[in-house]
Amino acid sequence: MNAVDAVFTSPPVSRQTFDEVMVPTYAPSNVVPVRALGLDVWDQAGKQYLDFTAGIAVTSLGHAHPAVVEALTAQAQQLWHVSNGYTNEPVLRLASALIKATFAERAFFCNSGAEANEAAFKLARKYGHDKFGPQRSRILSCLNAFHGRTLFTVSVGGQPKYTEGFEPLPPAISHIPFNDIAAARAAMGDDVCAIVVEPVQGEGGVMPADAAYLQALRALCDQTGALLIFDEVQCGMGRTGALFAYMQYGVTPDILTSAKALGNGYPIGAMLTTSAIAATFVPGTHGTTYGGNPLAAAVALKVLEIIDTPVFLTRVQEAGALLRRMLDALVVDYPQVFASVRGRGLMLGMLLADGYRGRAKEITKYAEAEGLMILIAGMDVLRFVPALTVSDAQLGRADQLLRTALDKFLAAPK
Ligand SMILES: *Cc1c(COP(=O)(O)O)cnc(C)c1O
Repeated sequence: MNAVDAVFTSPPVSRQTFDEVMVPTYAPSNVVPVRALGLDVWDQAGKQYLDFTAGIAVTSLGHAHPAVVEALTAQAQQLWHVSNGYTNEPVLRLASALIKATFAERAFFCNSGAEANEAAFKLARKYGHDKFGPQRSRILSCLNAFHGRTLFTVSVGGQPKYTEGFEPLPPAISHIPFNDIAAARAAMGDDVCAIVVEPVQGEGGVMPADAAYLQALRALCDQTGALLIFDEVQCGMGRTGALFAYMQYGVTPDILTSAKALGNGYPIGAMLTTSAIAATFVPGTHGTTYGGNPLAAAVALKVLEIIDTPVFLTRVQEAGALLRRMLDALVVDYPQVFASVRGRGLMLGMLLADGYRGRAKEITKYAEAEGLMILIAGMDVLRFVPALTVSDAQLGRADQLLRTALDKFLAAPK
């Protein structure tokens, strides 16, 4: 056996291996999942977990959804990749379906949320320059926003901890407090090419925008010709109980970005826009090797078909209401730990009370020990984004497991 074979075949690998072979960009749990079905996950030791993370709002149809597995494997037998020198049937069907389902008239595909936003920001800059001149470059975005980890998207994002050390950053980006209409008005100017906002901030702590705020941003853009970009990478694809959150708000963006749940775990991102704006990008201005690859497109088309039905979305609203009642009851029963519940649909967060600020991660560890996977959104918020297919029984089970975890957390010495 040569050295390369030894790496691929020799057992065992464990969480320890991560520290030995990976660039330490993450601090993963000691649990190493090996198999999953629906909301159930099994680790290397065979222990079972109830997954209320959905891989950070990605596997919205649950793990290994049979129709999605079928779409992927059927396409895998047919055609994987052709390059952008050719188009392909799945991507044309996916683009047509997304256009039919939304405000959009054109779609661009890529491989992640960051890339979808990168495309959106580049498009907004170029559109502004072409239409109004080179001074129209500035992008307005919100504090605590998260738009991805490329240098441009992380700079537009409003969390300094993610840009520190990476300077010099791309210029002409300003940050405004989220949900603050007066601040948005004050920051607006003729040099602004786009305002970007998450209709529900995810990483920033599960914070829904006020409808009046999104309406005000729309009005500001309409006054100057700036583009309104909604980053629905996390809150889109059924998560809030509508296909995209903008539909519930009744505010239509000029550009919408999607990723995460769009591929249910198969990497794909999308940028949707109007044909007038899309015309800014001509052959050669932007692209990516894998974007709109037949495998990803076939998966996303199936995911969209399943999610975008009234029955499915009504059930998301119902499950979201149930989860919210469950979390509200936890606030009542554990008032020392929790201050409030916020979010929309099946994208909910619990803000920790003052005495427990900074301890969200610790609580997730107790939950994991009980067999419940949950997320944080910042150090002070527990985040609940289960698969949209979560059953009432699974919601009840999560409630039990979380209560046990909280009791043990509270009984433990600090
Ligand atoms: C996760 C996320 C991104 C980045 O997506 P990646 O696929 O990790 O690049 C961008 N915007 C929002 C709102 C997200 O939640």
